[in-house]
Amino acid sequence: MTPTREVFAGIDVGGTTTQVVLVDEQLHPIAHATTRTPALEGGDAIVGAASALIDRLLADGLPVETALAGIGMGTAGVVDTANGRITVVSDSFAGWAGFDIRGTLQARYGAPTTVANDVNAFLAGEMTAGAGRGAQNALGITLGTGVGGALWLDGRLFGGAHGAAGEIGHTPGFGSLPCTCGERGHLETLAAGRSISGLYLSATGLVRTPAELSELAADGDAVAERIFRVAGEGVARAILIATALLDIETVVIGGGVSNAWPLLHPAIAEHLETEPPVRGTAPSIVRGTLGDSAVAQGAAALSFAVERARQ
Ligand SMILES: [Zn+2]
Repeated sequence: MTPTREVFAGIDVGGTTTQVVLVDEQLHPIAHATTRTPALEGGDAIVGAASALIDRLLADGLPVETALAGIGMGTAGVVDTANGRITVVSDSFAGWAGFDIRGTLQARYGAPTTVANDVNAFLAGEMTAGAGRGAQNALGITLGTGVGGALWLDGRLFGGAHGAAGEIGHTPGFGSLPCTCGERGHLETLAAGRSISGLYLSATGLVRTPAELSELAADGDAVAERIFRVAGEGVARAILIATALLDIETVVIGGGVSNAWPLLHPAIAEHLETEPPVRGTAPSIVRGTLGDSAVAQGAAALSFAVERARQ
């Protein structure tokens, strides 16, 4: 009998796009596909769209002996990992919070299913297959519409008491501007894409995306330059806090705003030089290398880790 080859599916459910990647037992991606997320059509439709991608990838060109050994999903929102569902999510989704994601996927495929917050999945992807490979202790930061954070300690994700460890975006001490969460002075008010655009709007009256502002700054727009410098300094202070508390080796930064790396990285590095961590050396600051696939690959890696731990 031909030995069965095991693959793991990683799903990234974003507000607009759903991506599925299949990885082998070395966590190498072997196939991937994307589709629109039917975010307002409820949990059955959202999981159904992801399942259609999995079915297609399993049917397309994989050896017949291939068995789906596990499924991981990374999705926005507060995740109840113990029960495999989302408890709170933004209003860009409908019928998603409370939906039995794990039960639905396990019933369909008979494969153990793991559900994780998307920032946790991002960090798991980068630590197992991307920029953070080889490090045992890391902080992950995603600079997107908001600012997300996750922790990888002693070689695995660290969730904390409520699965919310590493939420560096909503730590106070970063000024006094109002944050999307209702508090003030959080890192997110300086370093999120929405904040960067908002700060430019306040200063100039002009509406510009973070990508446009990155180009303007590169062309010498002093206001845009200053906003990215302040964002980078804020990220650096967050890194100093995490380094003092957790003695991390590496910080992996992702999200759309990290496309402005030539502006952000010097601002972060300069601040870490002027105010070095008490241990003497700064952690290495790296940009994620998996791009849009990080969450899906990380979700697959988490599924792989859970499955191997069960054996
Ligand atoms: Zn906040």
